[in-house]
Amino acid sequence: MKYIIIGGGISGLSIANLLNKENEVIVLEGDSRPGGMIKCDVIDGSLYHRTGGHVFNSKRKDVMDWFWSFFSKDEDFTKALRNSTVFMPDGNVIPYPIENHIHMLDKVNGEKIVKDLVQMAKDSDNEPNNFDEFLKGRFGKTLYDLYFQPYNYKVWRRDLTNVPLFWLTGKLPMPTVEEIIFNNLFHVDERSFVHSSFYYPQKGGSQFIVDSMAKGLNVICNSKVDNIKRNGAKWIVNNIECDRIVFCGNLKQIPALFDEHFNLSGYDKKIEELEFHGTTSVFCEIEENPYSWIYMPSREHESHRIICTGNFSINNNAPGKMTGTIEFTDYISKDDIIDNLQRIPLSPKYISHHYEKYSYPIQSTDTRKMIGDLKFDLEKNNIYLCGRAAEWEYYNMDAAMGAALDLYNNKLK
Ligand SMILES: Cc1cc2nc3c(=O)[nH]c(=O)nc-3n(C[C@H](O)[C@H](O)[C@H](O)COP(=O)(O)OP(=O)(O)OC[C@H]3O[C@@H](n4cnc5c(N)ncnc54)[C@H](O)[C@@H]3O)c2cc1C
Repeated sequence: MKYIIIGGGISGLSIANLLNKENEVIVLEGDSRPGGMIKCDVIDGSLYHRTGGHVFNSKRKDVMDWFWSFFSKDEDFTKALRNSTVFMPDGNVIPYPIENHIHMLDKVNGEKIVKDLVQMAKDSDNEPNNFDEFLKGRFGKTLYDLYFQPYNYKVWRRDLTNVPLFWLTGKLPMPTVEEIIFNNLFHVDERSFVHSSFYYPQKGGSQFIVDSMAKGLNVICNSKVDNIKRNGAKWIVNNIECDRIVFCGNLKQIPALFDEHFNLSGYDKKIEELEFHGTTSVFCEIEENPYSWIYMPSREHESHRIICTGNFSINNNAPGKMTGTIEFTDYISKDDIIDNLQRIPLSPKYISHHYEKYSYPIQSTDTRKMIGDLKFDLEKNNIYLCGRAAEWEYYNMDAAMGAALDLYNNKLK
């Protein structure tokens, strides 16, 4: 079989590696280099994750085994414990998750939270209708006002009553009142969680993952695909004929890619209506600190988190510097970034920034059904979808690899 893989992000590189042994595989990547959202730059000797911070772990054994077939766990990677924290607007630093550290808040709020917990235990049968109700019901009004509302408002950039719960299925923390009380009494912190650790490349950050996985593949860069033609049972992509296509780009492009010989107009409107958020990742020099992620509910600025990428590997910082990435939801101009940085802790000094438009796909109630139907129609024609924006799923790297493994094992092997 001759395959064209459209998109050389982690999904495209994964499926290409799986297919490469027994097939002819060409990866067409629109950018000047593969990697998609996990690409990194080196700026003045410090490593910059252009989007997010990209650490690795997985609950799936097959994903772990396959991932480690590319790398030496001991020589190429470090294993670190998560050390996240919440910087409160009053300067108080509370370990994550905040609900397990009520004993570190001031007594006035502590007293209110205890009353909330007693009330929540009585109201435990109330079913939330949206994210706002979920947060109030699960953590109580006081923690909601102090942390959950202001933090999540910055993440979602909308009234939380307008965030339906199905957007967050499987991603919500669900501690019970009993667990919150127990975790506070016995000081259960993040390190006690399952998957409290992560792997991170010793050198090169996630760019090292890209470079290793692209080795031995035929990746053609600067090859944006904007039209796919049919030739009998074959497809022609950028003048290259193939038997099968795996599309790992953005679903939003799909309806416009095909000529009149393959009509997907039934899906146009539904795909156009799919919602998403973008991310602006601002690379900064910051003060030394011991954290991996810092969550910021302060209403004084618009950023919700600092990813202390400088702490992920000692090789990530130029000598004498400490760096990190400050995240904003959606687009923010350079002038607004510079203005916000003045009010963000750790005295950040701007180095660079990148805006990724489709970083967070948002699903509506019928998105999975619609994409399932679309996949069925495409697969009858030897076209497959694989990837975060291709399947409109909230995949992390490991889930993207898992999706590639499932596609290969169930349909392409
Ligand atoms: C802020 C943030 C933080 C994250 N942190 C983590 C983390 O710590 N750990 C983790 O595991 N995951 C993390 N993720 C998730 C991770 O980024 C994704 O799972 C992963 O990058 C998805 O890869 P992909 O290949 O599916 O898509 P992408 O990375 O978007 O790759 C798509 C590729 O296709 C190319 N392309 C698109 N259209 C075309 C076309 N028409 N022709 C040719 N090429 C095309 C693009 O240029 C791109 O290279 C994070 C995500 C975000 C947004």
